[in-house]
Amino acid sequence: MKALITKVSEERMAICNECENISTKHRSIRPDVHCIDCGCTLSAKTKCLSCACPINKWKEMMTDEQYDEIKQAIDGE
Ligand code: SF4
Repeated sequence: MKALITKVSEERMAICNECENISTKHRSIRPDVHCIDCGCTLSAKTKCLSCACPINKWKEMMTDEQYDEIKQAIDGE
């Protein structure tokens, strides 16, 4: 699961880095690299498998419920 999240996050960050909405392309007082559309911190949001880009540049991979089920299964091992 960790390897999948890392891979997905890297792929999403590559898209965000090219996007006009990444905070590094704007003036911002926030120290974290974030999306100026949704306001989310990208290091966290890109790791969230049930999250999606607000302008559809990348999509969610599962619902919140599916994520919770997988997490419970892993934590229960
Ligand atoms: S989440 Fe979407 S809109 Fe925001 S910076 Fe990334 S690609 Fe751009």
